[in-house]
Amino acid sequence: MIKLKTKNNIKKASEIIKSGGLVAFPTETVYGLGANGFNPVAVAKIFEVKNRPSFNPLIMHIGRKTDLEKVTNCSEQKVLDLIEEFFPGPLTLVLPKKDEVPEIVTAGKSSVGVRMPANEIALEFIRETETAIAAPSANLFGMLSPTTAEHVKKQLGDKVDFILDGGKSDVGLESTIVEFNNGEFFLLRYGGLPVEKIENVIGSKLKLKISESSPNSPTIKIY
Ligand code: AMP
Ligand code: MG
Repeated sequence: MIKLKTKNNIKKASEIIKSGGLVAFPTETVYGLGANGFNPVAVAKIFEVKNRPSFNPLIMHIGRKTDLEKVTNCSEQKVLDLIEEFFPGPLTLVLPKKDEVPEIVTAGKSSVGVRMPANEIALEFIRETETAIAAPSANLFGMLSPTTAEHVKKQLGDKVDFILDGGKSDVGLESTIVEFNNGEFFLLRYGGLPVEKIENVIGSKLKLKISESSPNSPTIKIY
């Protein structure tokens, strides 16, 4: 069930994704529970396994900066500056979504969250799948976000097809989430990337738009 990060296992994990299965994988923030983000049936399994409410959108994980175009047409210069500076890293950008992104991923919203994890195993795995991976943290509803493969196994057991073991997550804190909407930047969640660093790149203050359902620390993580 738990598989070491060998080339062969990364390949197997990507094959499971291609055939509609679920793979838990390491990122620098926490372990993610991933499915092919363009396969709504596979994505539905994530909600089922986690017991996650369907109104809570998932983040699309990409393996290369250029794969941004899989999920959005956004070409705003300041957004591209953020990507240049902080991808890969603990920053999720919420941007207008392409029609191709299934509604189940975005919980019916017209925007999509996208991130490129700063973890070599995650990147290799995602690139190998040739898609974007929809993934929340690999824990059950109401439980802590896992930072090791063992934590994932304890919570999800047989409900996940494959757990790729990449050791302990370095950051242990969720990604910072920033939305770009109608020419303005909003902070949706505090996380691993300090707000000041983001503000320095965009040259203005982020507007706060923090909801109770997106807490800022894994120790009070709900979903
Ligand atoms: P996580 O719990 O780390 O899987 O992150 C998912 C969180 O990202 C959600 O609970 C939302 O707070 C946020 N999110 C993802 N996509 C969107 C979106 N399209 N619009 C607003 N927030 C989003
Ligand atoms: Mg989560």
